[in-house]
Amino acid sequence: MNTEADRRIAVVGGGISGLTVAWLLQRKNYHVTVFELRDGAGGSIGTDLDNGWLAEKGPNSLLLTSRYISELIDGLGLNDRLLHARPEAKKRFIVRGGRPLQLPLSALSFLTTPLFGSGAKLRLLREPFIGPGDAETDESLAGFVRRRLGREFLDYAINPFVSGVYAGDPEKLSARHAFPKLHNLEQKYGSLIRGQFLGARERKKSGEVAKDRAAMLSFRGGLADLIGALENGLAGNITYATPLSGARYERESNSYYLTTDDSSKTGFGPFGQVIYAGSAHDIAAWSFSGGITGSLKELADIHYPPVTSVTLGFRRSDVRHPLDGFGMLVPEIEPYRILGTLFTSSIFDGRAPSPDHVTLTTYVGGTRKPEYASLSDDDLLPQVTGDLDALLGLDGEPLFIRITRWPRAIPQYNVGYGRYKEAMSRFESDNAGIHILGNFRNGISVSDCIKAAFELAEAIHG
Ligand SMILES: Cc1cc2nc3c(=O)[nH]c(=O)nc-3n(C[C@H](O)[C@H](O)[C@H](O)COP(=O)(O)OP(=O)(O)OC[C@H]3O[C@@H](n4cnc5c(N)ncnc54)[C@H](O)[C@@H]3O)c2cc1C
Repeated sequence: MNTEADRRIAVVGGGISGLTVAWLLQRKNYHVTVFELRDGAGGSIGTDLDNGWLAEKGPNSLLLTSRYISELIDGLGLNDRLLHARPEAKKRFIVRGGRPLQLPLSALSFLTTPLFGSGAKLRLLREPFIGPGDAETDESLAGFVRRRLGREFLDYAINPFVSGVYAGDPEKLSARHAFPKLHNLEQKYGSLIRGQFLGARERKKSGEVAKDRAAMLSFRGGLADLIGALENGLAGNITYATPLSGARYERESNSYYLTTDDSSKTGFGPFGQVIYAGSAHDIAAWSFSGGITGSLKELADIHYPPVTSVTLGFRRSDVRHPLDGFGMLVPEIEPYRILGTLFTSSIFDGRAPSPDHVTLTTYVGGTRKPEYASLSDDDLLPQVTGDLDALLGLDGEPLFIRITRWPRAIPQYNVGYGRYKEAMSRFESDNAGIHILGNFRNGISVSDCIKAAFELAEAIHG
């Protein structure tokens, strides 16, 4: 049972994780204050609108993987702004031999696709007969895939897929921590293919939907609609432009106080509980005093590669490819500079001023080619349009350009990530009332962040 003092809660970080947990707790009559470092909320989520063009700065969509996503959208009254991805967005392309080839969606198209050679196809048939790896070993994703599916799948399916999700390196990412569902399928069913079939019933029972089957969603005004609705719901309880840098616990009053480096600000408190929903490198640099024990300094080692997102708008007639799908991913062994491109105006309505225009959102950088993420606009644009021309065919210049740089884009759940998770759990159990949330703890997708926020709100409220 929470005391009145426990009901005063500080939430540090106004990204989707912090805003969601704050909004949920406020609905349960907690006195919540959100502290956000920047002038606006949203963190990695933000949308630019300009004369009918729409460009997402970070994520372009979220997946309906659990009931929590619908509960949030319903609760915020956002159903009338909700957009479902067009059915054709199920189609995805992977570049091989300089051409975007369709990823097979059925067993028959898998047999005939030129994306994988006959050796790779035969190798897949062996998968159900390969025993599970050692449950205790923290294996890299690349090692896991080579072992179960073979080298060609790693190069032409998993490598580009990992770039699309983490902008990361499969040789470094941990199968267990970065893709826990995949790891669990192997451990539980002994095979990914068998687990895919046998696990379906279990997922249905738990209300979870696998990411590859989940409905893909956004809003008429982009994902900023979600952030705007959360900000409205929390109106008056968000303190912007406030970078916090430390916390103190006072035993006499049984309360936490938060501090900033700004000597003109005295600090904030008292709070019965503190939810930290910022980033790993930020909390690692915090100073803790009073009755707070332990530190989170080791989280500074969590790697966040840079990613730059480039949204370009064209006349429909200036792009030769039909853009009849979600987008294309580029495997590392293909000779291109970009990581991949979303056919954004093909996924959702309202991303370009008219049906005679299209938008393409391209990502560069990541662990694969970090140097491209920091190029100046003038140096970057020809690299991006050069690759797009080679792969999709361009006959004109972009009419609309939006470039967003994320110097620290996405935390990499690399092999050994368990020690960071343990450090966070230890810190929480040593300091009752402190909670750690966010994409460096419970999964990087927007839906993972929302789910974790619901679970934390439920744990706090009981
Ligand atoms: C380019 C890009 C594309 C992506 N694409 C997708 C996608 O298609 N689908 C998908 O599901 N996910 C995608 N993601 C991942 C997803 O967007 C993020 O993991 C998620 O939005 C993170 O939310 P968060 O609230 O945990 O953290 P953040 O969004 O990082 O928010 C943390 C907030 O805390 C604030 N903060 C930090 N330190 C302090 C402090 N000391 N004091 C006060 N405030 C502080 C920050 O300013 C920030 O606003 C993408 C991410 C990027 C960068």
